[in-house]
Amino acid sequence: MVPGEMALWAAKKGIDVLGSGDFTHPLWLRQLESELEESGEGVYCRRGGEKKEKTVNFLLSGELSCIYSQGGRSRRIHLLVLVPNFTTAYKVNRELERRGFNLASDGRPILGIAVKDLAVILKEVDENISLIPAHIWTPWYSLYGSFSGFDSLEECFGQASPIVKAVETGLSSDPAMNWQIEDLAGRQIVSFSDAHSPTKLGREMTVVSLPKGELSFRKIVDALEGEGKINFTVEFYPEEGKYHFSGHRICKICRSPEEISQLGRTCPVCGRPLTLGVAQRVEELKRKGSSFGGEKPEEIFDDFGVCWQKVSSRPPYVSLVPLLEILAQIRNVGLSSKKVINDYNNLTVLLGAEREIMLRRKPEEIERAGGVKLKEAVLRVRGGKILIKPGFDGQFGEVKIWGGEEERRKEAQISLF
Ligand SMILES: [Zn+2]
Ligand SMILES: [Zn+2]
Repeated sequence: MVPGEMALWAAKKGIDVLGSGDFTHPLWLRQLESELEESGEGVYCRRGGEKKEKTVNFLLSGELSCIYSQGGRSRRIHLLVLVPNFTTAYKVNRELERRGFNLASDGRPILGIAVKDLAVILKEVDENISLIPAHIWTPWYSLYGSFSGFDSLEECFGQASPIVKAVETGLSSDPAMNWQIEDLAGRQIVSFSDAHSPTKLGREMTVVSLPKGELSFRKIVDALEGEGKINFTVEFYPEEGKYHFSGHRICKICRSPEEISQLGRTCPVCGRPLTLGVAQRVEELKRKGSSFGGEKPEEIFDDFGVCWQKVSSRPPYVSLVPLLEILAQIRNVGLSSKKVINDYNNLTVLLGAEREIMLRRKPEEIERAGGVKLKEAVLRVRGGKILIKPGFDGQFGEVKIWGGEEERRKEAQISLF
């Protein structure tokens, strides 16, 4: 994950703007500064890179992990922070170090400070800083997390709540789950990849339209945080996450929220309470605003067979399986196999970026470049006609492109909503 490698993979994925990650780390910040040059106000590209890499821009971003105690409980919250330029990045780091926090120990530093206090400090450093609660539903380390989060944004951010204009779905939730939460009304739902390796970039993304020549930090952040400015988001299937449904892995018990309400939250095998997953947590917080969330998402298929989830008041989204994963399933090999990477590279040369291949290439073009099986796989993924086994209690879920027709995504969805 060095800038050159990130830019190359971003270009293949069809990403125009990337978060740098880890700006709070002193060495990484220095490396970014030496390898990047300004391409617009607060937006950077590779210094002296090849033309292809130059089309990819970076924003300075980082994630902070606040671990503290509030209301008699231990809280662990991750925050995504976007800063407008290098000067502000250095100022933030100085401010945090002055308070005794060790920024050099980790790319995502641990800060023993309440989110509501940290938010005020950051805004005092520069009011252009954007704060986005990260992957807000994961049981650990998130705003609404069942183990160490809060029941509302207000509880977590206090008087600083109005500065939160957007929240990140994370891999374990999709926008439809978030649309049901009253607390999030009027706040934007954004999606990013949280990638720790270049191949995972773009597994979730937020798409906004900005004229290419007019890229700036302010314009990008305004588009992410402003009402009605996001075109759409691309989502990972949240069922793939390790804590989607509730259950006990060892006892082989897995329950959807519907099953929890019918059968209860005690394990029939060992008699202990089940580990409650993200879907259950959404259900619980949804009930707090009982009059809210009435509008059911509608599925709209476009001319390319892509299934969009839509409600009237929100940007639509599409759930996709990453192309590398599709290729691995076609070859029946691991994700990091050389053959899969070769296939991927060939396809992106022939058909353009992954985003184009998945959403905008005609079936016959895909067949010509990658064969009939690839065409079939892409069409299945576009239409959501795939098999999904939700994860629970630390066990990853599974997404299979080819599976029994009777076990299609539809069934998984009915039990979810
Ligand atoms: Zn995180
Ligand atoms: Zn059990």
